[in-house]
Amino acid sequence: MSEYDFDLFVIGAGSGGVRTARMAAAKGVKVAITEDLYLGGTCVNVGCVPKKLFVYASHYRDDFQEAKGFGWNVTESSFDWPTLRDNKTKEIERLNGIYQNMLVNSGCTLLQGRGVMIDAHTVEVAGKQYTTERILVATGGWPFVPDIEGKEHVISSNEVFYLKEFPKRAVVVGGGYIAVEFAGIFAGLGAKTDLIYRGDLFLRGFDQEVREFVATEVAKKQVNLNFNCDIKSIVKQADGSLLVTTNGGKTIEADCVMYATGRMPKVAAIGLEQLGIKQAKNGAIIVDNNFQTSVPSVYALGDVIDRVQLTPVALAEGMALVNHLYNEGSAAVDYDLIATAVFCQPNIGTVGLSEEQARQQYTDIDVYVSDFRAMKHTLSGSDERTLMKMIVDKATDKVLGVHMVGPDSGEIIQGIAIALKAGATKAVFDSTIGIHPTAAEEFVTMRTATRQ
Ligand code: NDP
Repeated sequence: MSEYDFDLFVIGAGSGGVRTARMAAAKGVKVAITEDLYLGGTCVNVGCVPKKLFVYASHYRDDFQEAKGFGWNVTESSFDWPTLRDNKTKEIERLNGIYQNMLVNSGCTLLQGRGVMIDAHTVEVAGKQYTTERILVATGGWPFVPDIEGKEHVISSNEVFYLKEFPKRAVVVGGGYIAVEFAGIFAGLGAKTDLIYRGDLFLRGFDQEVREFVATEVAKKQVNLNFNCDIKSIVKQADGSLLVTTNGGKTIEADCVMYATGRMPKVAAIGLEQLGIKQAKNGAIIVDNNFQTSVPSVYALGDVIDRVQLTPVALAEGMALVNHLYNEGSAAVDYDLIATAVFCQPNIGTVGLSEEQARQQYTDIDVYVSDFRAMKHTLSGSDERTLMKMIVDKATDKVLGVHMVGPDSGEIIQGIAIALKAGATKAVFDSTIGIHPTAAEEFVTMRTATRQ
């Protein structure tokens, strides 16, 4: 009989926490999990899931337009924000229920309230203290908004999913995943949209050619791109609208200003300081390869450790931790070749090295690039283009990176990521027979290098 109430106490029921709790409980571990906000965390409630539903919604604008070339007579279309918002909320509530059932059915004790670590083996929730052999902190992240004049008027990705009214004019600030995705959502749903980014070109860290290509395509879809630009102040006007003034003196009137300037680890008031758990400058909990913090009975994973802020990574970390703690396996997670997608329009799908990274790391590379108008658009009337790109190490023929900008890039790149994980060479891609007619077949028919 254990001397503790629980074997594992998980603080935070987001992607990483829930997966760890369920997997551990399935192994007969006595698990408690506590959450003070919403089950499923950011991804389910104010992230990946509702965002993707909004991306689908925003695409209908193009779809209605393009249907005409295929003989459809789409006479009138209009968009009703409350319908989308409330249907989305119903779906999220359904998912919250599924998460609750999954946790309870797997044998976890589900608690409601903020979990605060009192000591290395005690967690307090809603005034009650529980003892535990181990604690897992999986509290995720929270939007970061810099201090600017008028900060009180802006929203973040936490509020955007519940807006009372859909803005006629929207300003999105930032140049990462969330900003680029939401600029596309706002524009697709009919808002006059400005994206403001402080640097030369958004999506820093992505392949340069991909970034340039996306900028051209996003601009075609009525997103007004303001690069090398920052907000100086935001003033609420008498009619309730917001007057945005940039550092260059330009003014933009908007009904909504959304900041998507990164996310910070969510570490406030959970007892880290009392326990002396080591944190990085931005608050991220420092862990070793086994997700163990500087206090041996306390572990952390997911966005709160700020390694890779992606749901599938948190899931992988959770499974690795359970394997380590309760199967005596390794907790090592292979962070190499993580494929990602940005659901801007058209989507970006990417895995492996950018051309710039490959040039730094390898002496001789071949770069294959294909830039074309997708077959659908021969009739749709759309001038959207697709980009496909592959980077190969000349010495070994190994494919180092594959990038795509176009419809369903995320779906396509997921399969390519498996090939890259398996160490596929260009010869393997070349010997693969394509599926015709698809855009994806381009990846197995690129025969002549565009440049070296
Ligand atoms: P990102 O870190 O991707 O981007 C933050 C952006 O904000 C950067 O362009 C950054 O500029 C800019 N920025 C940071 N600080 C300031 C500031 N003080 N003033 C002006 N601009 C600033 O964060 P996101 O918020 O977009 O997303 C958070 C994370 O969530 C992502 O990193 C990603 O891991 C995850 N995510 C994944 C998605 C997916 O898989 N599809 C979708 C959404 C989120 P600079 O580049 O110059 O530093």
